[in-house]
Amino acid sequence: MKYVVCVPDGCADEPIDALGGRTPLEAASMPVLASLAARGEVGRAAVIPPGLPPGSDVGNMSIIGYDPTAYHTGRAPIEAAALGLKLRTDQVAYRCNLVTVGADGTMLDFAGGHPTSEAAAEVIAALQGELGSDEVVFHPGVQYRHILVAPGEWADAECTPPHDLSDKPAIWPTGPAASKLQTLMEASRDIVPRFGLAANQVWFWGQGFQPVMPAFRDAYGIEAGLCTAVDLVRGLGVLTDMNVVEVEGATGWFDTNYEGKRDAALATLAAGADLFLVHVEASDEAGHAGNLEEKVTALERWDDRILRGLVEGLDAMGPWRLLLLPDHPTPVRLKTHTTDSVPYLLVDAAIDGPGGIYSEPATATSIARPGHSLMGRLVLP
Ligand SMILES: [Zn+2]
Repeated sequence: MKYVVCVPDGCADEPIDALGGRTPLEAASMPVLASLAARGEVGRAAVIPPGLPPGSDVGNMSIIGYDPTAYHTGRAPIEAAALGLKLRTDQVAYRCNLVTVGADGTMLDFAGGHPTSEAAAEVIAALQGELGSDEVVFHPGVQYRHILVAPGEWADAECTPPHDLSDKPAIWPTGPAASKLQTLMEASRDIVPRFGLAANQVWFWGQGFQPVMPAFRDAYGIEAGLCTAVDLVRGLGVLTDMNVVEVEGATGWFDTNYEGKRDAALATLAAGADLFLVHVEASDEAGHAGNLEEKVTALERWDDRILRGLVEGLDAMGPWRLLLLPDHPTPVRLKTHTTDSVPYLLVDAAIDGPGGIYSEPATATSIARPGHSLMGRLVLP
């Protein structure tokens, strides 16, 4: 049996007037998904447990089958793992965004104009040179997403995710350790603008100590791999000892290499893996940008450029099961994540399920299952 998990990040949404009252999932032309849903099982998944923030870290931890209430310590330590950083128990990791804050204090762009990783690495190196030390270390990541490792006592602060502040006043950190963070953020405003990017400072958030998670093979008894352009999903793979496959042209943006991800899934499964997770960030970025057209397009690309060939390839390989769900909604109206439960689809190639329609309204009356319980339903006999 081969297993595939498909994660269109943030794809769940709300009915939208411009779509005639439909959601992007309803409006997008997705014939392959519709045919899978017609012979599978659809329902709702509570991927964000009560009391936890609706981040991709929490949602994707649920999707890979680990209860976030037991394992989640913060977003940044997961991304630090993706960069190969091993934190000591007396160290805390912060996410360090390159952001654009206006002169009036408005968060203009939580992604700092999406710099290239290469351009951003020069900024991070300068920040380390001028503001860093042996104990306070800036590590370059992907595009606008970087990591600060600091002494454990720096963890005691309340920080607002910058993507929750889009077009709003930027709320700076508060709490006992906030002054250390504020000092660095303030000082970065003299350094970041020198590089001619849209970004003009750093923003710290998502801190935590390194979580201790059992390997996926120990938790579920099978070998798993994944592909993603997003550090925190890669980090979840590292922390659970999955085979993290790099796909050329996987950008985390609208232009990502959909076919490359599909082919990575099929090749890794053919080479012996039991399960493969395909994560695509584009639908989430479209939600954050409030870009309805790109969100619908991202879903249609999933169908045409991943699911169609994936199903053909899986059929040729033997028996298979597929689980599809996003890690949280990112409604285009709100431009940020919500804690709402999301629709899921579970399909067994050989079994006719109850069938249904994969959309938010079609699953609205289903009782939400804990998100982390779906992995067990997918892979355990
Ligand atoms: Zn997400």
